[in-house]
Amino acid sequence: MELNERQKKIIEITKENGPITGEQIAEKLNLTRATLRPDLAILTMSGFLEARPRVGYFYTGKTQSQLLTDKVKKMTVKSYQSIPVVVEESASAYDAICTMFLEDVGTLFVVNKDGVLIGALSRKDLLRASLGNQDLSAIPISVIMSRMPNITYCHSHDLIIDVAKLLIERQIDGMPVVKETDKGLEVTGRLTKTNVTRAFVELAEGQFD
Ligand code: ADP
Repeated sequence: MELNERQKKIIEITKENGPITGEQIAEKLNLTRATLRPDLAILTMSGFLEARPRVGYFYTGKTQSQLLTDKVKKMTVKSYQSIPVVVEESASAYDAICTMFLEDVGTLFVVNKDGVLIGALSRKDLLRASLGNQDLSAIPISVIMSRMPNITYCHSHDLIIDVAKLLIERQIDGMPVVKETDKGLEVTGRLTKTNVTRAFVELAEGQFD
C-alpha cells in the first residue's frame, strides 16, 4: 500500500511522540483534527498505528511485509469457499460429464447414500474413461474416481495460504471443505484455485480488512 506524504509525516510524529492524541498530531502539522481524520483512519485500519481510547495513537512498529503477513493469516477458507457440487457414487461417467457442464465446475465430489465424502472426480479422470469408445453411461464413477483415504480436504477455519500450499503440493485444482459427522466427512464447500486467485486479488487491491 502506498502512503501519501501526510500519512508518512503522521507516522514519523507518532513514532517520536506516541502515544499522542489526534489533536496533538493535528497541531504539529498545522491542520485541523477533522482534516486528519481520514488519514488516521487509514493508518489505523492498515495496522501502522494503533488507537487506544483516552490514550492516543501509537506506532505499532510493523513493516509493510509484517502487515501483509498479518492479513494473510486472517484469510480463512470460510470467506472464500464456493458451493460444492456433489454426485452420488452410483452416477455414471456420462452423468458426471453432464453435471460438470451444467454446474460449470472442474471437480465433482463423490458421496455415498449417507452423503459422506468417498471420492473426487476431475475432468481428466473423465477424459481417461472416454478413451477407447466405451459406453460412458455404463461406467460407474466409483471405478474411475480418486477415493478416500487419498482425498485432500480442508475445513472452513483453515487458512487460505495453507490450502494453497496443499493445492500446489498435491497437484490438484480443488478440494472439498468438510465437516466431521458421526457417519464420516460431510462436504460443506469447495475451495479451488479460482478461490485462491480471488483472495490474492482482494489482498492486492486492499479490499481485505
Ligand atoms: P485434472 O485431472 O482435470 O487436471 P486435477 O489436477 O484436480 O484435475 O486432478 C488430478 C487428479 O487428482 C485426478 O485423478 C483427480 O481425481 C484427483 N483429485 C482431484 N481433486 C482431488 C482431491 N481433493 N484429493 C485427492 N485427489 C484429487
